[in-house]
Amino acid sequence: MSCQHIRQMLDAWIDHELDDVTSAELAEHITHCTTCSAIRAERLKLRRLVKSGAPYFVASSSLRQSISQKLAVAANQQQHALIVTPPVRLNSNRRTWWQMAGLVTFASLASSALTVWILHLSVANNVPTIQAQLIEQHVASLANPKRMVDVASTDRHTVKPWFQGKLDFAPTVADLADAGYTLLGGRLEKIESQPTAVLIYQTRKHPISLFMTRATATKPMSVNTIRGFSVANWASGGVEFYVVADTDLIEVERLATLLQVLH
Ligand SMILES: [Zn+2]
Repeated sequence: MSCQHIRQMLDAWIDHELDDVTSAELAEHITHCTTCSAIRAERLKLRRLVKSGAPYFVASSSLRQSISQKLAVAANQQQHALIVTPPVRLNSNRRTWWQMAGLVTFASLASSALTVWILHLSVANNVPTIQAQLIEQHVASLANPKRMVDVASTDRHTVKPWFQGKLDFAPTVADLADAGYTLLGGRLEKIESQPTAVLIYQTRKHPISLFMTRATATKPMSVNTIRGFSVANWASGGVEFYVVADTDLIEVERLATLLQVLH
């Protein structure tokens, strides 16, 4: 199973909705894949947050009835449409597949709305402070092209020496043009009083900020979505890395993996 496939089934797995065989496959993947494992940990954290912080309302019988009616109508419409989705094997066979499709659609809509709301809450409460700060830096730098880079060059041999003497670690300045990431340049920032190297890459019109500071310990890669931005974070070889972009998580993860290999 691919990481993408795993992530599509992660919520169902956490909610114990998958059959034993599929559950075992997911569990096996999670023990080997740090990225999927980090996403699972994030979802569990979210679940705990929802349980402890969200108000709980019991649906009235009229609400239940109106949802059932809407689902029945939606299911009738879907019966005539050909839907191609990856197979999600569910335990319950009391309902027909089209009823389940309606329920899954409804549940995933409700769950995304809840996720957005909870993430909004956690940012408002400054839970991931550094990451929220980096997103602000990323957005602010893109709004002002003069602030984006102090050294503008696609050549790593121009950008890397520019940092010399300005940092207490050696930043990774990689040429990733062949992989589809064009280097636009670099600048210096102070983040939480730490001198920080920032590189800007671009892929298919999406600018990506790579922040690097000195690290004292190593940290496995974790990926996170905050306010619609994807963030990857890890530390190795005395450097802590943060990749911030408005692309999807997979893109940020791909760049992060490339950088991990090169560093
Ligand atoms: Zn995976």
